[in-house]
Amino acid sequence: MSEHNIVSVSGGKDSTATLLVALELDAPNLQAVFADTGHEHPETYNYVRYLAEATGVPIRWVSADFAQRIAGKRNYVETKWREKGVLESIVQAALDILHPTGNPFLDLCLWKGRFPSTNVRFCTEELKRNPIIEQVFMPIMDDKSMILSWQGVRRDESFARRYLPECDEVGGGLFNYRPILKWPVEAVFEAHRVAGIKPNPLYLKGCSRVGCMPCVNCSKDELRAIADRWPGEVARVREWERLVSLASRRGSTTLFTTSNDPMVTASDSVNYQTHGIDRMVEWSRTARGGRQFDLLAAAEDSKACSSAYGLCE
Ligand code: SF4
Repeated sequence: MSEHNIVSVSGGKDSTATLLVALELDAPNLQAVFADTGHEHPETYNYVRYLAEATGVPIRWVSADFAQRIAGKRNYVETKWREKGVLESIVQAALDILHPTGNPFLDLCLWKGRFPSTNVRFCTEELKRNPIIEQVFMPIMDDKSMILSWQGVRRDESFARRYLPECDEVGGGLFNYRPILKWPVEAVFEAHRVAGIKPNPLYLKGCSRVGCMPCVNCSKDELRAIADRWPGEVARVREWERLVSLASRRGSTTLFTTSNDPMVTASDSVNYQTHGIDRMVEWSRTARGGRQFDLLAAAEDSKACSSAYGLCE
């Protein structure tokens, strides 16, 4: 029976430490894979390239393709939306916009007609889990192979991860393996230091975790740091909100959905300045729970080191 060891690399500290453990243990048939969501910070893309070079482990990039599902949705819009009472202007706008862009995150949202959210988090499965299973695991799964899927998760990250086992069988010779499950965060950065591998520079710039920019789970502080440091990322999301709204039956959708979001239609472009990502960025600069502008926060130099891990003294 042949053994394959495949490490899912995200560009974050935990998956990097996991790759370093696999290297240290000289895991046979070691491969690393990076699922590109199309919504990462440029520094993360650069970091994944650096990691492959610095460790000598080639990192394979995979990504999801939603072209067929967007074509299916186009057909559905054309044949069903009118009979469901959707306004003709919204039907036409959707038909105009429903063409794949080649960006996985944006295409996923165009297909769904909405963004993922903390409650409806279809992004991880569609953009990361499925492409890795379909493009990396499935081609090597047979009755003569055992595949260990190395995952960089730690128990102290969240309640949901607290009771995960170190190893469990998925089926068909595929196992999940979580070698750093019990590690504290200090051990993760120590593993980088010992191996001479730099952590993703985003940790030094106010990001407590590395992932989509921004992730639907990002905190208020992270959103503020992102908006202050990388307004271009906010501008990209603003444009995506406009495009995905055109593919939405409601005519409106935003990255961070809140229950009291006003209904703003895609054609109502003037309102985008106080809607969606802009409204959330405005909120991220307020004191907790309020809408008042937080002068202290605004006075902070967000370009100074604000690592949540105290990497710099
Ligand atoms: S990083 Fe966040 S937004 Fe991106 S796929 Fe994961 S949960 Fe979704």
